[in-house]
Amino acid sequence: KSGFVALVGRPNVGKSTLMNRLVGEKVAITSNKPQTTRNRISGIYTGDDMQVVFVDTPGIFKPHSKLDDYMDKASLTSLNDVDMVLFMVEPDEPGKGDQFIIEQLKQVKVPVFLVINKVDEVHPDKLLPIIDAYRKLGDFKEYLPVSATEGIGIPDLLDSLYKNL
Ligand code: GDP
Ligand code: MG
Repeated sequence: KSGFVALVGRPNVGKSTLMNRLVGEKVAITSNKPQTTRNRISGIYTGDDMQVVFVDTPGIFKPHSKLDDYMDKASLTSLNDVDMVLFMVEPDEPGKGDQFIIEQLKQVKVPVFLVINKVDEVHPDKLLPIIDAYRKLGDFKEYLPVSATEGIGIPDLLDSLYKNL
């Protein structure tokens, strides 16, 4: 199987760390060129039975953009060009930045997975309330607790990608 996956989330939630873990140094694609295309390849995961092309969506969820910044329609459209979206968050109640992204994602028609990263930092009892809080805010196909640094939940994440491609 193969497909395109967009990884979105606030700065510092661990997107690059997850990418590095999934993609590995061997096949990671890095580029210093200015972002000129709507979908920029940020890495390719190659497994035994699956290849996943991860893409950045330039112009969307920019680290320095204000919450009320104009949201480029083309950027949102580009999220519909992928097969699924991974929305990555901290293991915490949804904040204003997360809620803003959730509102934008409501215009996206492909499945959105909520990836709760850094679960190594929280007591397991904290996870369910967090998942409940996110469930109230948006429509997520699956809820995936992971730790990008510790490797927790990564096989399950890959499994979910596989099932949905
Ligand atoms: P990005 O801005 O979303 O790309 O976030 P980064 O990948 O740069 O990570 C931001 C910070 O979070 C770094 O200091 C990472 O080491 C840390 N981080 C990422 N994943 C995890 C995790 O699973 N657990 C913990 N404890 N820290 C993490
Ligand atoms: Mg990053």
